Amino acid sequence: MERDPNCVFCKILDGEIPSAKIYEDEKVLSFLDIAPFNYGHTLIIPKYHAHGISDLPEEYRNAVFAAAAKLAPAVMHATGAAGFNLLMNNGETAGQTVPHAHLHIIPRFADDKVLLGASQKQYQGTELAEMQAKIQAKIAAREA
Ligand code: 5GP
Ligand code: ZN
Repeated sequence: MERDPNCVFCKILDGEIPSAKIYEDEKVLSFLDIAPFNYGHTLIIPKYHAHGISDLPEEYRNAVFAAAAKLAPAVMHATGAAGFNLLMNNGETAGQTVPHAHLHIIPRFADDKVLLGASQKQYQGTELAEMQAKIQAKIAAREA
C-alpha cells in the first residue's frame, strides 16, 4: 500500500506533520529523529507504507540503503562523529514503534553509551550447525 492514513510517517510524507528534512528523492525521505540517541540521529523512510524490510518492494528497499550510503558520511562529518550505526527495528518485539519501515543512522562518539546492554550467547555442541540447517531450509522453501 502506498499510504496508511493512520501512520505517523505517512503523515510526514504527506506534509501533515512537519519534519526536519535533510534529503529527499523519488523513493525516500530522510529527516532528523525527534528523540535522538545522539544529536544528528537521522531516519530514512521509503515513500511506501510497508511494515518492515520483507514486505517492502525491492525498488524502495534498495533506495533506502542507497540513501544510507550517501547520507551517513554527511551525518558523520556534520556531527563530528567517529562512526555510525545503521539500525532497522522490525517488529514490536525488536523495538519497532512506528509500523512503517525505516532505517536509523545513529552517529556515534567515543564512550557515548548508546545501544548498550546486549550480551552475546554461545552455541553449544551441534546447536550452531542445527540453526544453520534450519535457516537454510526456510530460505530454500521460500525460493522454491
Ligand atoms: P523505531 O523504534 O520504530 O525503530 O523508531 C521510530 C523512531 O521514530 C523513534 O526513534 C522516534 O523518536 C521517531 N519518531 C516517532 N515519531 C516521530 C515524529 O513525529 N517525527 C520524527 N522526526 N521522528 C519521530
Ligand atoms: Zn506509513
